[in-house]
Amino acid sequence: MKVTEHIKRSNGETQFTFEILPPLKGQHIQSIFDNIDPLMEFNPPFIDVTYHREEYVYKEVENGLLKKQVVKKRPGTVGICAAIQNKYGVDAIPHILCGGFTKEDTENFLVDLDFLDIDNVMALRGDAVKSEIYFKPEKEGHTYASDLVAQIENLNNGKYLDDELQNSSCTNFCIGVAAYPEKHMEAPSLESDIHFLKKKIKKGATYIVTQMFFDNKKYFDFVDKCRKEGITVPIIPGLKPIATKKQLNLIPHRFHVDLPDELIIEIVNCKDNKQARQVGIEWCIEQSKELQKAGIPVLHYYSMGKSDNIKAIAKEVF
Ligand code: FAD
Repeated sequence: MKVTEHIKRSNGETQFTFEILPPLKGQHIQSIFDNIDPLMEFNPPFIDVTYHREEYVYKEVENGLLKKQVVKKRPGTVGICAAIQNKYGVDAIPHILCGGFTKEDTENFLVDLDFLDIDNVMALRGDAVKSEIYFKPEKEGHTYASDLVAQIENLNNGKYLDDELQNSSCTNFCIGVAAYPEKHMEAPSLESDIHFLKKKIKKGATYIVTQMFFDNKKYFDFVDKCRKEGITVPIIPGLKPIATKKQLNLIPHRFHVDLPDELIIEIVNCKDNKQARQVGIEWCIEQSKELQKAGIPVLHYYSMGKSDNIKAIAKEVF
């Protein structure tokens, strides 16, 4: 079922959803199930599965020369989605990127999803590969997520890349896109970022999931701004509990979000990661309860492959 249908059917109740990462190459799929199993009692209507593009690594060969090698550390997004739908009967949402994909790759990926009865996709640009500063699309690929949304919407209308195809069938994907209450790191201003977010909706996206935030005011202000700009689709908040002391620096660096002073002080005063984890859980419970009280239909948790803290939060909120 489409995310937008799930939201319509929720009848004002806030639903619990979460995102998982494919396991590192070489690990068994059971490691994913072990993290999903404890969360199923909270009846998630859908589970997102991230996509991880290839990375370049340099390996030393003879004479001290370096050999550039392409590796994909977390393959398996589509397979995991199929396995989730099969095992739990819950909608799985694969993330799909512009980065590393030609338009042809994208089309073939979408054909696979369609054949697997996957109804939703999260369309993203992706980040620059680690060895580069700026995002570079494939030669025959998309530069922005809005272009990817347009291709998916074309397929929903039976328009494939080969325009000589006869009687081509239409897909029926519900398309989600990302948004950043504290602005995407490359955007010159929040207004500019919202302008391009609107473009993704115009091209066919029907719901939004936000980057994590630790101050609900940032989310509420962002939603107000989007509504003023005429964006009417659901804006699902993304939440992540802090789990280690180190994340105090890692999260702002990696995700370009601010942490409130109160949270920073609490974490700094923790004597170890166990205490920091508890502070993270309690902070996230408070955020979740406030969002729930405001009538937000879906809360989306970034599990980062670990379910125990998400379970502790869900137990208090849902
Ligand atoms: P876009 O919407 O294309 O925006 C990128 C930047 O370009 C923004 O600054 C925007 O303002 C600007 N822009 C957009 N259109 C135009 C235009 N026409 N002209 C000029 N500027 C423009 N990454 C992964 O690798 N795998 C994942 O599974 C994944 N899942 C994610 C899930 C969520 C909910 C979120 C919030 C992020 C996720 N990401 C993931 C990270 C995401 O790929 C990066 O944040 C990426 O840098 C931007 O992706 P986007 O889809 O928001 O890009």
